[in-house]
Amino acid sequence: MSQAVGRDGHAHGEHAFDEAWFASRASAGVQRLRAYDPGHDLVAMRKRLGEANLVELGSNENPYGPSPAARDAIVAQLQALHRYPDPLGADLKRALAAKHGVDIAQILLGNGSHELLMQLGQVFAGPGDEVVCSRYGFAVFALATQAAGATLRMVDALPGDDATMPLGHDLDAIAKAVSARTKLVFLANPNNPTGTWFGRQALATFLAQVPDEVIVVMDEAYAEMADADADAASALPLLGAHPNLLLTRTFSKAYGLAGLRVGYLIGAPGLVAVMERLRESFNVNGPALAACEAALGDEEHLHMACARNAEQRAALAAQLGQRGLRVYPSQTNFLLVEFGPRTARIEADLVARGVVLRPMGGYGLPHCLRITVGTVDENRRLLAALDEVLA
Ligand SMILES: *Cc1c(COP(=O)(O)O)cnc(C)c1O
Repeated sequence: MSQAVGRDGHAHGEHAFDEAWFASRASAGVQRLRAYDPGHDLVAMRKRLGEANLVELGSNENPYGPSPAARDAIVAQLQALHRYPDPLGADLKRALAAKHGVDIAQILLGNGSHELLMQLGQVFAGPGDEVVCSRYGFAVFALATQAAGATLRMVDALPGDDATMPLGHDLDAIAKAVSARTKLVFLANPNNPTGTWFGRQALATFLAQVPDEVIVVMDEAYAEMADADADAASALPLLGAHPNLLLTRTFSKAYGLAGLRVGYLIGAPGLVAVMERLRESFNVNGPALAACEAALGDEEHLHMACARNAEQRAALAAQLGQRGLRVYPSQTNFLLVEFGPRTARIEADLVARGVVLRPMGGYGLPHCLRITVGTVDENRRLLAALDEVLA
């Protein structure tokens, strides 16, 4: 316990300078906020068990890694570490604009799409405003809302026994939850942690119901991984007709570059310009800019990783299903799986065997675990450990 002494030299009463006290000094939104839960302490586990003894399937990383061209680009950048990166990220934005057939002024780069989602909250919502998202929607949506001091309206998802898309976004209910106070709607397609998705017609119908004044965010972190024949529509073709719509993408998943922290937003040039006002000037570092540009040039590697993921996703889902476990449909690189009332115990027993999955209690799905689809070998090791634990 120490005594707070003001600048005027007077004591202001006794209190510990602890988290509770500093929280009381924080803005209203931050007072109610809890920090993002990244799951297990993997760094400590790697030290304790050795990386070779771990099967890390908790963070939806890409086990095939990035394009070799991305690694080479980073090595080339090592000559320039004393320089600030290009504050505009112009080369990467040009490459992204060409890939997606949009104008360079429609693209904003972020230190991961996480940063962009937080910034959207800060820019467009504040105290008294509402932000709408789905239950079981990506955790950062709630964080971005609370950090901005806005009020979250969480709309019930489709029921777990829905015939078409269990636990999926209920777009009609989300549209109905939009009010005169709503500033932002966060959607994820496909969504994490459910793996669920919705189609282009459903999205078009939704957008027709939502007033222009409301900014609609489509988080498309897993878009590259959706099967070509699945109706998991990207919002991209709808941007022209709906300037209030934007989408976010990331290099963390299909491109295998989670360690670099690069995401991007595509939206109306005016929206990007307003977001720029709050962007930290050098938010994406030089090696990351170069590596992502190189990764975009290697479509073959991207297609290899996505094809292997799709193949392993189907195989793993079938294997888990054969064990009597309920596996939710997914167009991502993870599966949401129901383990019933013994879930916490099963998860702990798997961790004891070096198999790391993501508990879902924080999402209100305590009977589920989220399992990243690994390589053939990782999935085999997961299933072997699971068979021991379930026996
Ligand atoms: C992984 C993920 C992201 C990506 O986050 P980054 O900050 O770009 O690594 C964004 N949205 C969802 C739904 C995700 O699952």
